[in-house]
Amino acid sequence: MTLSIPFDNSYARLPEAFFARTPPTPVEAPKLVALNRKLAAELGLDADALDTAEGAAALAGNAILPGADPIATAYAGHQFGQFVPQLGDGRAILLGEVVDRAGRRRDIQLKGAGITPFSRRGDGRAALGPVLREYLVSEAMAALGVPTTRALAAVTTGERVYRQTALPGAVLTRVAASHIRVGTFQFFAARRNHEALKSLLDHVVARHYPQLEQRDDKAVALLEAVIARQAALIAQWLHIGFVHGVMNTDNCSVAGETIDYGPCAFIDGYDPGAVFSSIDERGRYAYGAQPGIGLWNLTRLAECLIPLMSEEEDKAVAAAEAALSRFAPAFEAASIEGYRRKLGLTTSQDDDVRLIGELLALMAENRADNTLTFRRLGAYADGSRPDAMGVLFENPTGFAAWGERYRARLATDGGDPADRRAAMDAANPAIIPRNHRVEEVIAAAVEEGDMAPFERLHAALEKPFDRAADDSPYASPPPGDFGPYRTFCGT
Ligand code: AMP
Ligand code: MG
Ligand code: MG
Repeated sequence: MTLSIPFDNSYARLPEAFFARTPPTPVEAPKLVALNRKLAAELGLDADALDTAEGAAALAGNAILPGADPIATAYAGHQFGQFVPQLGDGRAILLGEVVDRAGRRRDIQLKGAGITPFSRRGDGRAALGPVLREYLVSEAMAALGVPTTRALAAVTTGERVYRQTALPGAVLTRVAASHIRVGTFQFFAARRNHEALKSLLDHVVARHYPQLEQRDDKAVALLEAVIARQAALIAQWLHIGFVHGVMNTDNCSVAGETIDYGPCAFIDGYDPGAVFSSIDERGRYAYGAQPGIGLWNLTRLAECLIPLMSEEEDKAVAAAEAALSRFAPAFEAASIEGYRRKLGLTTSQDDDVRLIGELLALMAENRADNTLTFRRLGAYADGSRPDAMGVLFENPTGFAAWGERYRARLATDGGDPADRRAAMDAANPAIIPRNHRVEEVIAAAVEEGDMAPFERLHAALEKPFDRAADDSPYASPPPGDFGPYRTFCGT
């Protein structure tokens, strides 16, 4: 059993300005605490070989496998609306890329692997809690069908990291379609490096949007394609109650994956204004603000691409504006289509938008649990448990009136009730990574070194749509004394 990773690197072949070659800094005592065997198989890696001391050393950055070409990538970004011309990978090191079994190119990156030329005042490290949080939540998102970076492994380092207190350190192995962000374009646009922007455009199109390679308006085509993916992605976030929490332009992937799970959280009770991040004082990244911020970020991408669109600025600006004007309708369409699926509607009627809006308004008024409301609609629609809805609403009569209209709408939809129920169960998860459960398993791992609760929650999150999931303890909302939830970035 020999450990090898068939690296096939493309980003490290780009011009020097794109990155800094930086080896990981070895750690004291690498120990594998979580390994994603299914993902390893998908990547064509031997999980048994990773699950060894040699594997732990490679996943901690203590050993560099043949073919790896470790780099820290350069990027800029707007953080809470403020432009920072140089951010870059301050604690993440890209080992290289592999082409997976399905032929998709994937980055393999170590997060928390030591200081880089982009670390500024940071220590280049990550604490175990946030590493496990990203592992769990990103894998849950994948199981929920949301495009996302993935987690291949978590390794503890045997070292402490110092935040407010001393915490156990860890390294996450993150897998992504790429780590190219809106902020990567901003890095070169801010430097007026036209050549680099052009190379980046070509790289991104070839890698993520190969169907656009023959287009002679590649910059416009790329903008349109990223807009379409982000609109669809953010609609999915809203359907499952996900609050990203730090939608800075450096955390906005041009491949359309969810990236950076620092301060993310899930709503329990439906609340468009929900904010969890301790530093998001003005609610810039609130649950319901996410589509608007998505468009704001894409507008920053458009600004970077304008110089590549046309020699004539007026024409370029008009093309960028036309592309940006497609965000709102694309988001609306994806949003409504998803809610139709959640309601079990197979046909489309003009009044559906109102029906959906009325349900969401009732949920907001009553702080009805987002996950349970939609999940239980399945049994409400097929008549098997019509009584289970009312308890989710402080004012059940409001829901009852909506329910009558919903049933009338279902009657016009036709179709077999059993098929509808199956389709609704497949659109409405019973289990999401609820904040109180995530905190609980992290506390057990960090405070007691007990990974068993993490493993149990992880296993449950792998099958969020199963009928059996309804009876899982992980399906329940937080206990009344859980209180307001706060999350933190950069820990
Ligand atoms: P984030 O808020 O996670 O998107 O990170 C913003 C920037 O801070 C990125 O450039 C990160 O690489 C950098 N950063 C975050 N934490 C650390 C750390 N502990 N050491 C060095 N850089 C960091
Ligand atoms: Mg980030
Ligand atoms: Mg982060």
